[in-house]
Amino acid sequence: MAIANVTVIGSGTMGNGIAHVFAQYGYSVTLNDIKHEFLDRGLKTISSNLDRQVKKGTLTEEQKTKTLANIKTSLVLSDAVKQADIIIEAATENREIKFEIFRTVDAHAPAYAILATNTSSISVTEIGAVTKRPAQVIGMHFMNPVPVMKLVEVIRGIATSNETFAFVKQLSESIEKVPVEVNDYPGFVSNRILLPMLNEAIYCVMEGVATPEAIDTVMKLGMNHPMGPLTLADFIGLDVCLSIMNVLHEGLGDSKYRPCPLLKKMVAAGHLGRKSGKGFYDYPKT
Ligand code: NAD
Repeated sequence: MAIANVTVIGSGTMGNGIAHVFAQYGYSVTLNDIKHEFLDRGLKTISSNLDRQVKKGTLTEEQKTKTLANIKTSLVLSDAVKQADIIIEAATENREIKFEIFRTVDAHAPAYAILATNTSSISVTEIGAVTKRPAQVIGMHFMNPVPVMKLVEVIRGIATSNETFAFVKQLSESIEKVPVEVNDYPGFVSNRILLPMLNEAIYCVMEGVATPEAIDTVMKLGMNHPMGPLTLADFIGLDVCLSIMNVLHEGLGDSKYRPCPLLKKMVAAGHLGRKSGKGFYDYPKT
């Protein structure tokens, strides 16, 4: 593949994972965020995740060193994208933040560069529309944790060209991911199917059908799911689950996507799951 430079915007959970994988496969990566401390934290996470791979024997110490050497950081977005062949945006899930990033990137990236977003719920078509190159805008929806999970949902906005899709498909394969083509509709495929299932599990708790433990056990042992739906909801974050249900409900206009009142109540109370220490289960601070 004739590309070398990948710029990743946002060095949080997803951004540092995306940077990690591209650097591991020999791409030259520029990681951008708004504060030094966020970039440092991202690099630290990459380093400790690489250590885990070395310990497991899937990577050598030398490969770890090379991977880290392939990553540089930048706080200035207009500089970070100047040499980029592809830009992958993994900043905070907020429409205005993403629109502003895409306007800046569009103004400063080379004319040939592809602009990808890792958004979970914002329309790729709308993001493309804030740029002057909507045919070169596409979704690359990686799964968490990025170094481990094989899937990339490749989301075609209404204006995304076949060339852009083919490029991103090949790029995803070059880092040993499995790209799956999906059209731009609320929740894409992954969240459109997953979130209503989690929401239904929450209805079961609310209606007293069974306890969270019982519901999780049914889905693990009965359906062979590796994690029960309420454990998974706590892991994703109940605020994130609620916001995706709202996107499905508003975007598809069907009452079957209404968020469960118990989910709304828990978010209002600050019970957000693992990250707040309390959700359907308790997570004592270690
Ligand atoms: P996060 O909060 O861990 O990280 C977001 C990062 O973006 C932060 O470091 C923040 O400082 C940075 N940021 C904010 N504004 C910025 C700006 N203007 N320029 C540069 N950086 C900026 O969030 P995350 O979980 O990594 O999510 C990132 C994106 O990935 C979101 O769009 C989310 O929907 C999507 N996503 C998340 C998951 C998941 O499981 N966490 C899975 C798939 C997709």
